[in-house]
Amino acid sequence: MSTIIAASRAAATRVLPETPALRVDNVSHFYGARMALKDVSLTAPQAWFTALLGLNGAGKTTLFSLITRLYDTRAGAIQVQGYAVHRYPGEALRRLGVVFQARTLDLDLTVMDNLLYHAALHGMRRGEARARAQEVLVEIGLADRARDPARNLSGGQMRRVEIARALLHRPSLLVLDEPTAGLDIASKSAILRHVRLLVQERGVAVFWATHLLDEIEASDHVVVLHKGQVLAEGEAARIIAQSEAPDLRGAFTVLTEGAGT
Ligand code: ATP
Repeated sequence: MSTIIAASRAAATRVLPETPALRVDNVSHFYGARMALKDVSLTAPQAWFTALLGLNGAGKTTLFSLITRLYDTRAGAIQVQGYAVHRYPGEALRRLGVVFQARTLDLDLTVMDNLLYHAALHGMRRGEARARAQEVLVEIGLADRARDPARNLSGGQMRRVEIARALLHRPSLLVLDEPTAGLDIASKSAILRHVRLLVQERGVAVFWATHLLDEIEASDHVVVLHKGQVLAEGEAARIIAQSEAPDLRGAFTVLTEGAGT
């Protein structure tokens, strides 16, 4: 081997690739005999919008349950900001904000108390929590609703509060499971716009599960999940080009038909 090649190889081994915000390696999950995820590997890059695209039953919620440690990962490994969730759950979960598919606000508590309760779970001191809660309510345009019981909010407003609550402890990775489900067009686009701004202006990494192709932009990082398996991963524009389809809808059809459905 020439000295130049040896030197360049040595240099290359010193350059570690950037740690992704989320890394899933060879994860499988079964409910009894039913396979929900099979050998799933994917990444969500730092400060980027990643869409987890899959139809109903693809396995998106199961993957979220594993990332958030609702279920134990029995096969494979999941890392949040380089921390394995099963080995360093505290470190991993501290860096993670979660918006679940089901509504999770306590409807009888005020908006502010919903936020303070969550802040307490993250060990924030009362004064800091209150200041931070006010800050996030201003950001989502609901500062004037702080004293209202959560049940008085519209579906879109509740979702915004859930996103604000997930951001209270300043996580660097925000995962959202079909966050626009059940919302009208205006609320959907307001939420998508807000989350995209978090990526652009704050450098938050977003992992957004959806079955809606129109929520995805050409520069997004996309993971196509189908029947528990990853069929493609990469920039949306690249997935479209590789499938030789005119758009993402066409690419999705090519991929899922190729997978035997
Ligand atoms: P949706 O968009 O409808 O929420 P999804 O992509 O989130 O779907 P999952 O809810 O993860 O998909 O479901 C993946 C597979 O696992 C499906 O076949 C589903 O029926 C099955 N499944 C999910 N939860 C359970 C459970 N608790 N017990 C048994 N099977 C389950």
